[in-house]
Amino acid sequence: MVEPTSLLLGLEGLEVRAVTQTAERTRVLDVVTADPAASRCPECRVASTSVKGHAVTRPRDIPYGDDPIQLRWNKTRYYCMNPACGRRSFTESIPQVPPRRRTTTRLRTQIGRSIGDAARSVVEVAAGAGVSWPTAHTAFVEHAKKVLKDPAPVRVLGIDETRRGKPRWTRDTDGRRWVRVDPWDTGFVDLSGDQGLLGQVEGRTSKAVTRWLTTQTTQFRDEITHVVIDPSAAYAAAVTEELLPKAQLVVDYFHLVKLANDMVTAVRWRVTFDTHGRRGRKHDPEWANRRRLLSARERLSDRSFAKMTALIEIPHPCGSARVGGPPVMLVVSDHSPATSGGPLSC
Ligand SMILES: [Zn+2]
Repeated sequence: MVEPTSLLLGLEGLEVRAVTQTAERTRVLDVVTADPAASRCPECRVASTSVKGHAVTRPRDIPYGDDPIQLRWNKTRYYCMNPACGRRSFTESIPQVPPRRRTTTRLRTQIGRSIGDAARSVVEVAAGAGVSWPTAHTAFVEHAKKVLKDPAPVRVLGIDETRRGKPRWTRDTDGRRWVRVDPWDTGFVDLSGDQGLLGQVEGRTSKAVTRWLTTQTTQFRDEITHVVIDPSAAYAAAVTEELLPKAQLVVDYFHLVKLANDMVTAVRWRVTFDTHGRRGRKHDPEWANRRRLLSARERLSDRSFAKMTALIEIPHPCGSARVGGPPVMLVVSDHSPATSGGPLSC
């Protein structure tokens, strides 16, 4: 029969031997191992009786009541008795506190659920559980890995970038060099189905895209018929025939329209300067029609469209005047770039 205090603690594999309280009202629970499997070598799983020594660890557990609880686990160290095993010694471990862990499994599960399912912030959950930000984040990643499944095949894959915060600098793995953390992420979305966001990786380079694509199954990659990107050379370079044999590259409508509109505005500014030697004023027809010039044709009434084309009149530097015509007439320079500000040619 389980002793009442151990039952109250409810941490499988551990038995409470004593409870004391410190001056700061922390309840210290002295626990010992109550799991025969804890004396099995983690590598060869052979049970050992050859004691090497003892060690005390303080795994952090879920809070209970207002005052903190501290576990003090007196562990046994064993020599591995299997001559064929490469491991010489090991310390007891149980599923609730696996090797090299300083938090209990149930605490990590609770943290992972609070962040992943209840959408609470990592900072808030870490502070509540009394653990560091990296520990809480690792628990969330473990939880997410269990919940997330591999994406189902996708026909149209969307790739786009998202910025999060400012660039940060961090030490590399051996702590010698400072490494810049890219503030840009690349997201992969299912544009033809209903799976939404399929994955998100750090960086917006070809390598970041290639790395994510290669972690997917060959079947997943073979099913993709179209890849939709913004006009990014890095993304375009990642969509290769070897990686995505059936995929056709498509530039998304929004970015194309945005680029075209930016160009119309740049040309409007340039033409105004070339014509008047100053920036646009409200009585200038191209300024008065600046919003109409950026509207989709189907969003303009015939009247509005006619008004725009009738009002736009560009006195040409050579003395002639162009009247009316479709809005594209503003793109009169056929070789100088929009930003060159060079004179218009006849
Ligand atoms: Zn062993």
